[in-house]
Amino acid sequence: MNRKTRSIHLSLLSAALLSASLLTTSAQAQLAPSAQPAAQPGATTEARKANIVIIGTGGTIAGAGASATNTAAYQSAVVPVDKIIASVPEISKVANVKGEQIFQIGSESFNNERLLKLGKRVSELLKQPDVDGIVITHGTDTIEETSYFLNLTLKSDKPVVVVGSMRPGTALGADGALNLYDAVLVASNPASRGKGTLVVLNDEIQTGRDVTKSNTFKTETFRSPFGPLGYVVEGRTLYYRLPARPHTVQTEFDIDRIDSLPEVAVVYAYGNVNPASIDAAVKNGAKAIVYAATGNGSVGDYMVEPLKAARAKGVQIVRASRTGSGVVIRNGEQPDDKYDWIVTDDQLPQKARILMALALTRTNDPKALQQIFWKY
Ligand code: ASP
Repeated sequence: MNRKTRSIHLSLLSAALLSASLLTTSAQAQLAPSAQPAAQPGATTEARKANIVIIGTGGTIAGAGASATNTAAYQSAVVPVDKIIASVPEISKVANVKGEQIFQIGSESFNNERLLKLGKRVSELLKQPDVDGIVITHGTDTIEETSYFLNLTLKSDKPVVVVGSMRPGTALGADGALNLYDAVLVASNPASRGKGTLVVLNDEIQTGRDVTKSNTFKTETFRSPFGPLGYVVEGRTLYYRLPARPHTVQTEFDIDRIDSLPEVAVVYAYGNVNPASIDAAVKNGAKAIVYAATGNGSVGDYMVEPLKAARAKGVQIVRASRTGSGVVIRNGEQPDDKYDWIVTDDQLPQKARILMALALTRTNDPKALQQIFWKY
């Protein structure tokens, strides 16, 4: 090696050492989330802070108890969204947020009208070029219905994150502040685009399609049979999976074009279920009945005729399962082809209600409706 070659080698070596030390420094900086919360991979905040609108609808995240030990008994939907935002000052370090109160209700009080009002407002905001993402504070009881509805009807790739809490802000071990912070992080992260409506609680990112509440009081209550899409940890948004079923811009349902939803009833099966519940749903104007049947959609012998009679009156019959997960097999427990019934695929009865209501805005043909259930 002559002197010239050696000096080239030496300068290459020092350049390599310099870049290695720079890499170490930036890796260390990324490992210090409090010093650099914007260092989550791909965060908008690296270039500029994302503009996030936080829409308040109520729920426990807006709740207050009489004492700090009231973790499960308290009044929900009392704290205004701006006050909730102000109670988590860390949020302003990661995004420019604006609060908007649309409702102040427990999520059990959501109905079609409120769902449509929320969806239309979210859609309006998503069209604004200065809005990068939406966070919706929501009661946990029906998060799974609202998030599935938005997942199917919003026409935007921008992140929409629904968040709640299991304990009011006044409780020991309150979970709302961290959940809200995490939700804003997820909504601010470009990696969240195009993943449909997301639900963030308990350090996990769930898809609106699959998530369900599984426990009445624990903070670890939200689950999907397929697991979360990712985690939020130490200010990082980490994804591991993608939703497989079509959502948002990929669906045939557009919130801007839907002004009302047809009545769809859920009838819950149990030993000695009263056939009159089917008649009551029909008399009430149900256009479809989701029968939350036992096991793999099995129907008691004395319930088959009432369901067939409802179908003969033009009401769509959807066989679902009350088990909480799994696929209902067409022509398995019942001859669906013969009775002109539909099966839900894997949708829980309350989610099947949402999908059926939307599907009926497109078609009343049971074959097409069955395809919709298999597609979404
Ligand atoms: N009932 C409350 C609601 O869904 C419960 C909660 O938020 O956790 O609004």
